[in-house]
Formats: sequence, C-alpha cells, structure tokens
Amino acid sequence: MLYKTDYHIHTCFSDGKAPPEDYIASAVAAGLSEIGFSEHLSLFRENQDWVMNPDKTSEYIAHIDSLKKKVRNISVRTGLEVDFFPGKEKELELYLNQFDLDYRIGSVHYLGEKTVDLGPEFYEGKNIDTLFESYMGYVMAAASSGLFDIIGHCDLIRIFGHTPSVNPEPLYRKLARTMKKHDVVFELNTNGRNKAVGDFYPDRRFLNVFSEEYVPVCVNSDAHMPSRVGQYFDEAYNLLRSAGYTEMAVFTGRKRKMRPF
Ligand SMILES: [Zn+2]
Ligand SMILES: [Zn+2]
Repeated sequence: MLYKTDYHIHTCFSDGKAPPEDYIASAVAAGLSEIGFSEHLSLFRENQDWVMNPDKTSEYIAHIDSLKKKVRNISVRTGLEVDFFPGKEKELELYLNQFDLDYRIGSVHYLGEKTVDLGPEFYEGKNIDTLFESYMGYVMAAASSGLFDIIGHCDLIRIFGHTPSVNPEPLYRKLARTMKKHDVVFELNTNGRNKAVGDFYPDRRFLNVFSEEYVPVCVNSDAHMPSRVGQYFDEAYNLLRSAGYTEMAVFTGRKRKMRPF
C-alpha cells in the first residue's frame, strides 16, 4: 500500500470544524499511515478568529501528544502552521523553541496588515505582478529563516485565480533554489481545489521546477473538516510522479526522512 501522510490539518483549536479525535477515522479511511495536526499560530497581529490563541499552544500540543498515545491504528504527529513575518525571525525562534514538535510549517498569509486569502477585495486596484513578487519574496524569506521544516502553500497568492502578466517560471525557479539551499520541504497542498483558483498549490505547471531543483516534497490537504483529510491525494501523488518524484519527506521530532511512494 502507498505510504501516505497528511501533515496539514486544522481542528477546532483554530478554525477547523471538529476536535482532533474526529479526524482519525477519516484519516484511516483515506488510507493514511500518518496524520499530523498543524493549528494556525499567528503572533504580531491582533488575534483573529481563524488562529489559535497563542496562550493555548501548550494545551494544544499536550492534547495531540495524548492522542498519539491513545490512537493505535495510525501514527499521529504534532505540528503548527506558523505565520511568517519578515523581520520577526528572532521573536518567532524564541517562541517556537519552547515547544517539542514533529515539524513546523511556515506559511505566509499576511502581506502587510491584511491576509491574501480572506477575500477577493484584497486584490482590487493592486498590481498582480507586484503582488506575486512580494508574496514570493516573503515565502523565500520564510524558507531562508531556518525556522521551518515545511513551507505551506507557497503560491497562496493564486487563491482567487489571479495570474501574473509575465511567465512566473523564473520566480518559481528562484523559490525552488532557495528552498533547496535552506533544506526545506514544500507541500503539494490540495486545498486550492476547493477555492476559487480550483487547483492545487503550487501551480502544477511548475512542479517539474521543484523536481529539477531536488526540493523534497510532501502532500497535504489543509483540511478544516474530517471529510477533507487526504482529499485528492491519488491525483496529487500521480502528479508528483509525472514531475519526477519518487519519494516524499516524513517527520518525527523535526527529523526528516525520505520515504518512497
Ligand atoms: Zn495556510
Ligand atoms: Zn492551513
């Protein structure tokens, strides 16, 4: 059986719809070998309803760690999806170093004071080429920071279907090289299929770029409800295979191993 993991899952500790326990049966039904939770952690901005209150981080980690001991039919992993803010690396490091995790996902949601994924109005009157460049610049800073094991949805800026006026391949190449240099994994995030863009992150046209630059990969659903755990994974693994991938990254205690699929 294909070894599948899903490391990007949100529960009611942040903006997911169900408690962590409720995701286990779906993960088993989806044929996963590992399920990892990754609540939203966002420092430096007023606490929003889609993120976990940072005061709850310890409680959340203890909760997932106890689930690890209870659940026998699938391996459980503890992670966080951390909002990256350029210039705040030191503070982030100090905060994150308090916790024992299996992996850290670094994601860019904020460009300035607003998030790029909350609504299409963010894009009104803005130059899409500039937005792409700024977003990718932030993602490259996240990849270079040394804070993260996995980079989340590296082109979330596509969420409402916007595309740059010039071929973005060089930008993806630069991003892939940055990820390789700093030894971070990118995720093939299937949740974009449920959004206006209607397809995975990153743009499938450039998966070969990540493969050519030898950037390790994992497949994640970014599920916010149990029914979406492992969603579209067969298609995702096939896509990766056709881009040249034969193995994926798995994590325990922030140690990475490669596993064939
Ligand atoms: Zn995210
Ligand atoms: Zn997420």
